[in-house]
Amino acid sequence: MDEISNTTPSNFIREIIEDDIKTGKHTKIHTRFPPEPNGYLHIGHAKAICLSFGIARDYNGLCNLRFDDTNPVKEDVEYVDSIQEDVHWLGFDWDDRMYYASDYFDRMYEFAVQLIKNGKAYIDSSSAEEIKNAKGTLTEPGIESPHRNRPIEESLKLFEEMKEGKYEEGEYVLRAKINMASPNMHMRDPLVYRIKKATHHNTGDKWCIYPMYDYAHPLSDWIEGITHSLCTLEFEIHRPLYDWFLQALNLENLPRQIEFARLNLSYTIMSKRKLLELVQEGYVSGWDDPRMPTICGLRRRGYTPESIRNFADRIGVAKRDATTDVALLEHSIRADLNKRAPRVMAILHPLKVIITNYPDGKTEELETINNPEDESMGLRKIPFSKEIYIEKDDFQEIPHKKFHRLFPGSEVRLKSAYIIKCNEVVKNEMGEIDELLCTYDPETKSGSGSTRSVKGTIHWVSAQHSVKAEVRLYDRLFLSEDPSSDEDKDFKELINPHSLEILKNCLIEPELVKAKAGEKFQFIRTGYFCVDPLSTDEKLVFNRTVSLRDTWAKIEMKK
Ligand code: ATP
Ligand code: MG
Repeated sequence: MDEISNTTPSNFIREIIEDDIKTGKHTKIHTRFPPEPNGYLHIGHAKAICLSFGIARDYNGLCNLRFDDTNPVKEDVEYVDSIQEDVHWLGFDWDDRMYYASDYFDRMYEFAVQLIKNGKAYIDSSSAEEIKNAKGTLTEPGIESPHRNRPIEESLKLFEEMKEGKYEEGEYVLRAKINMASPNMHMRDPLVYRIKKATHHNTGDKWCIYPMYDYAHPLSDWIEGITHSLCTLEFEIHRPLYDWFLQALNLENLPRQIEFARLNLSYTIMSKRKLLELVQEGYVSGWDDPRMPTICGLRRRGYTPESIRNFADRIGVAKRDATTDVALLEHSIRADLNKRAPRVMAILHPLKVIITNYPDGKTEELETINNPEDESMGLRKIPFSKEIYIEKDDFQEIPHKKFHRLFPGSEVRLKSAYIIKCNEVVKNEMGEIDELLCTYDPETKSGSGSTRSVKGTIHWVSAQHSVKAEVRLYDRLFLSEDPSSDEDKDFKELINPHSLEILKNCLIEPELVKAKAGEKFQFIRTGYFCVDPLSTDEKLVFNRTVSLRDTWAKIEMKK
């Protein structure tokens, strides 16, 4: 595993933890990350992972991976596998502490029996409809169920029979006996167990009653000895219930739930349900489509674990919800790749240039630097010959005022090679430009000490030595800054129709043929790119991770 930075800035949760260590409340910090295996992890989960695993790392504690699989119908092993892969890839590990909430179903059942015995829970035979109607509102108290004072013995018997499958779904439920007049709706005798005749991916058909999340979560935390249970703000209102269950069972060494603001990213959708919709309806090629905000999508796009961890550190942990500019995420990968990605030459829109005074059949091996940011990355050779390709938009037949690249009569430096001059534009019958005829100045070879300088430098590849590749240019998947804001509008109407552009006839320098899946490069002057995992020797495919500069910022400025 790669080296992990330990430079996470402090935040209110870390302060609580430091305090708990100082006062001796805890000697060993124990956190957990509890995904529900009903989808792939996304960048929001990455924030939660970096927080809980990062705290364990920095305070010499432990962090468990726990699959929250209390709902039998939505879960899938595909998700269980992908979640493990993604957490590992981010650079974190749970050793032998991978658990399922369903591992604790037996104990949870016993605890529920205990709740009934303690007079803290009862079997209700009201229908779902009746329970709902008796809930009350924010301004009115609820109405106590007629079964609320059912004798303990009777509830115990019914609960056991529920477990044995004697009843149908909805006939009975187990409810906590709390307070139907509580201003917190979650405290108005919430459900603890319901009958569900479903096969569970882990426990099969052993159970036909399943615990509710609000009950299963504190107990799972307690069973695992979690000290700090970190979750997002929507659970704040559930916290009294979290604490109530543990206290009603007279347990000790209680975990503490602390809530933090979830990550919202501009131009991004994070709801698993909506992401699934994009996948199932074919708007993207899969969960790992490089435009998806999923961890596997970001990985395929060329993001590094370091860049995501740095991003998580940088956005920090707050107590109030806000939206983070996606440009910050893009900045973090740019900063990371700037340090480590070798610079190479690739032509996305080729325009042929013939250097008329260069000897036929000659090839020169020119030297170029791999990364000006990191000299230790050394030099490499690039072949130069009479016919080369440059980028179409590095030439203008009628140049606009500040254009310092190639136009008829102008001179430009070819990166790490020579200065060339454009003498003639050759067109086809349609009047389109076919090629440029140029001459080079042999005295201007880069690194030879030539003092002649020109205003523009452009990149190029040797025609004969270059290799064809497909390049996929990705842009933001949504045109709207907040694609979820308008509830009446289908979020899919806000998809950016130009979020993927495929260029099939790009030309890359021969060095790149050796590149392996996932390898990352800076294509000089165009952006950061990586080799797609499905790239083959016959068909090389590169994904654009990010452009060199934030082009959206410019568009925003103009607006
Ligand atoms: P669901 O709507 O299916 O419950 P979820 O995004 O809450 O989706 P979980 O699998 O329950 O998915 O999430 C696991 C953990 O990740 C939870 O503790 C949750 O608080 C946290 N988490 C989820 N989304 C975000 C987010 N956008 N930012 C930070 N943390 C998140
Ligand atoms: Mg959730």
